Amino acid sequence: MTDKAQQTKAPVNWTATIMFILTTLVVAIAVPWYGIAHGFNTSAWVSAVVLIFITGTAITGGYHRLWSHNSFDAHPLLRLWFALWGAAALQNTILDWCSGHRVHHRHCDDLEKDPYSAKRGFWFSHMGWMIRDYPSSRVDFANVKNLQKDPIVMWQYKYYVPIAMGMNFGVPILLGLIFGDVWGMLLLAGFFRLFITHHVTFFINSLAHMWGSQPYTDENTARDNHFLAFFTHGEGYHNFHHIFQNDYRNGIKWYHWDPTKWIIKGASMVGLASNLRTVPDFKIRRAMVKMQFKRAQAKLAKAENTEKWSELLEKEYDKFHHLLNEWTEQHTEKLEEARKHLQEKWENASVRVRYHELEEQLKQQSLRLKMIMADYRASLAG
Ligand SMILES: [Zn+2]
Ligand SMILES: [Zn+2]
Repeated sequence: MTDKAQQTKAPVNWTATIMFILTTLVVAIAVPWYGIAHGFNTSAWVSAVVLIFITGTAITGGYHRLWSHNSFDAHPLLRLWFALWGAAALQNTILDWCSGHRVHHRHCDDLEKDPYSAKRGFWFSHMGWMIRDYPSSRVDFANVKNLQKDPIVMWQYKYYVPIAMGMNFGVPILLGLIFGDVWGMLLLAGFFRLFITHHVTFFINSLAHMWGSQPYTDENTARDNHFLAFFTHGEGYHNFHHIFQNDYRNGIKWYHWDPTKWIIKGASMVGLASNLRTVPDFKIRRAMVKMQFKRAQAKLAKAENTEKWSELLEKEYDKFHHLLNEWTEQHTEKLEEARKHLQEKWENASVRVRYHELEEQLKQQSLRLKMIMADYRASLAG
């Protein structure tokens, strides 16, 4: 079936459609009207900002990095927090969300299988996929069997509607009673917060698959984008995330804006999170160098008289393979030792030094590749 046929034939999902229309109208009309007629007090603004952060990071840290990808283990208290505030985001239950998201990773960009394939356009990947019941959105809990063993996930699944209502109306009303402006709080900490949280998450499916760089892989449309990362609590490093989905980080450099990563790290320091999974640096750099080769080769393939450069590249490629082999060997040995519980042995200095050397050599190679291509460009100009 063509995309057009799917779009016209799929029945409208009225629950989602009414929710989106209602929240958009309230934010576009009632919020400014109330602001002009009555004014919002500071507590309503502060609550809205704080709750945007709390709700957003329950989705990024809980729904996404914890439950969809098992990138760390969380204490029941933290899981309860994520389950409650995740429900406040009105993005369906943990089970539904994670099932769909695992399909998104598995069949990324596929027109028929990826529930929010960016190849079906901005609107579709942003919101369109939710306002009709497309075959691609049908969930099958077979891919979230591990989550069905989590009592907190199942509790949220069973009582989703009352929990979601309580978080979206109960919490703002309570805050309104405390700070003396129930309507102001409902409009800002309720509706406005929900509207922002919705679009922030939706941008990860739409813009983060269209706008930005691809330093690690070009096998899917996912992009790294610092600007988006700022608004999406760190999820803008989506190119990294799609290749290393089990890493609890999305922004890997210290200067990358990834508050979700900091929350998880912070939680681990007070015993609320454990087993934080990370990809070895060598593997990350290997992906980057691979992309460098790919780009360089593509560039040379388009031009003429590139023998000299191709030869240089070829030599570097041999070295690259040599490095990879050596690392794999080292890695297997390391695992072998670990299996034998000879902790002291594989943690000993010489192994660590060798690892470091290999990483360093890969870094040097990356720099050499950059220089070769800079020389090549200069040769064209001259
Ligand atoms: Zn994605
Ligand atoms: Zn993901």
